[in-house]
Amino acid sequence: MNLKKGVALADGRLNAHADNDMTTDAARLWIDVLAYLKVRVSQEGFDTWLAPTKGQDVNKTVVEVEVPNSFFAEWLGQHYSAEIKSALKHLTGREFTVLYRARDVADAAVLKRRAALNFKPVIRPEGYRLQARYTFTNFIVGESTRFACAAARSVAERPGAAYNPLFVYGGVGLGKTHLIQAIGNHALSLHRNVKVYYVAAETLFIELIQAIEKNTRLEFKSKYRGLDLLLLDDIHYLVGKERLQEEVFHMFNHLHDAGSQVVFTSDRPPKEIPTLEERLVSRLGSGLVVDIQAPDLETRIAILKQKAALEERELPHTVAYYIAARVKKSVRELEAGLIRLFALASLNSAEITVDLAEQALKDLVVPEKPLDQETIVSATAQQFDVSQTEIKGTCRTKHLALARQTAMYLMRKKLNLSLKEIGFCFGGKDHTTVMHAIDKIERLRIQDVSFAARLKKLSSGISRG
Ligand code: ADP
Ligand code: MG
Repeated sequence: MNLKKGVALADGRLNAHADNDMTTDAARLWIDVLAYLKVRVSQEGFDTWLAPTKGQDVNKTVVEVEVPNSFFAEWLGQHYSAEIKSALKHLTGREFTVLYRARDVADAAVLKRRAALNFKPVIRPEGYRLQARYTFTNFIVGESTRFACAAARSVAERPGAAYNPLFVYGGVGLGKTHLIQAIGNHALSLHRNVKVYYVAAETLFIELIQAIEKNTRLEFKSKYRGLDLLLLDDIHYLVGKERLQEEVFHMFNHLHDAGSQVVFTSDRPPKEIPTLEERLVSRLGSGLVVDIQAPDLETRIAILKQKAALEERELPHTVAYYIAARVKKSVRELEAGLIRLFALASLNSAEITVDLAEQALKDLVVPEKPLDQETIVSATAQQFDVSQTEIKGTCRTKHLALARQTAMYLMRKKLNLSLKEIGFCFGGKDHTTVMHAIDKIERLRIQDVSFAARLKKLSSGISRG
């Protein structure tokens, strides 16, 4: 059979095949196939699976290829058959059936490669990197976490079947890591053999860099691809790391297609993660997106009591209330306050009292600035997008006048200042001007829904009242 002459390749291994067997049509054809595929499949795939193969025999319809062992035959058949067929079609204009014949050569290189191929994810049965204390039982559910927690439980009960992916977002220290790890711990308690892996995006990034440096990307990939449940924490870390985004995108697609569950957390919703590729954004948000907010006062008290119980310490209600009323934004800070309180009590052999709690919270809580006229002026100016000088000035454009009148209204409502005092704050305005301003805003609040909403937002952003 007359076939085109083999293409000489720069690659040493391929030339070695050519040297041995240049005489047979099969060898030449196969060298051409490899040359064709070399630029069309990934480097890693080519080096691992295609380079060690050799054309053995060819007739009108069948090409016989020698491969190192039966595992190669299976793999090539499953993963490269379409590419190989299209290479043959391109080179000869004909369709071929490809048969693989295993050559059981036990040379060191092949054995090494084989070990890499048979690589299985190293996952301890109890779930890798999961902390035992992060359970649903230890997670106090409040209004702000009820929905997220219910979704997390469903995912743990039926990984891959409930919401996939589940995307949990919320501010720092609000329990995202706790919740995502609780999914892993709970899934493992329900399904003994489920392969769970928890990883923070930052760690994933380090693993990826190392895999690239050590040329072990195959292991890196297969480790993640064999999972039933991947818990990927702090995905906002992907910002600006395109290579990692690409990897996560493929990893996610692979797992999702295989019916495996993926859970992500982030400090913001997918759409608000800047520079995240559009296709990744849409993948991340394609399942269920839930948020967790800061807990309310009752929940904060319940969390403190539970933490104290876990530490087997007494926490009087008044003290729990004192701490919870002051530490509002983060459960992590709440915990830190409590730990400091217990440490102070132990070191000084002191009783746990509100006074001791005050000491413990000293540099942890930034005291709220008392509300005054200046705070109102500055918040209102910001809301109306004007400067403080403008709002206190005399210019009477409609927008500025409205901003000024709103600030006057808020001073009356929140600080209960006299009309004269308010007027003084705005460069000595007459009390009738102030009264007129307050009436106007009151009317507007009743008549104009969108203004009312704006006023409410501004008012609640300013603490007192
Ligand atoms: P994030 O990952 O959102 O920054 P973490 O999950 O690390 O926050 O939570 C910080 C700490 O607060 C952890 O020790 C966690 O156990 C605790 N925590 C957060 N939310 C709750 C909650 N609802 N109930 C009990 N502990 C909580
Ligand atoms: Mg976290």
